[in-house]
Amino acid sequence: MENVCRHTRTQVIARREGVDYVRCQDCGQVFEADDLESASEGDDEEQRGVGHAAGE
Ligand SMILES: [Zn+2]
Repeated sequence: MENVCRHTRTQVIARREGVDYVRCQDCGQVFEADDLESASEGDDEEQRGVGHAAGE
């Protein structure tokens, strides 16, 4: 689970019909900007808490 990419560094590569397509600069995955925003909400926070607790 540590290798999961959170796509924190993304670049917009295309815009079509009101949808932004972004590419992750870390893993190279391409997805819609809307998908990234909805998917990272909550989930990101949970993984951060777990990682921090384990690291300390
Ligand atoms: Zn990524």
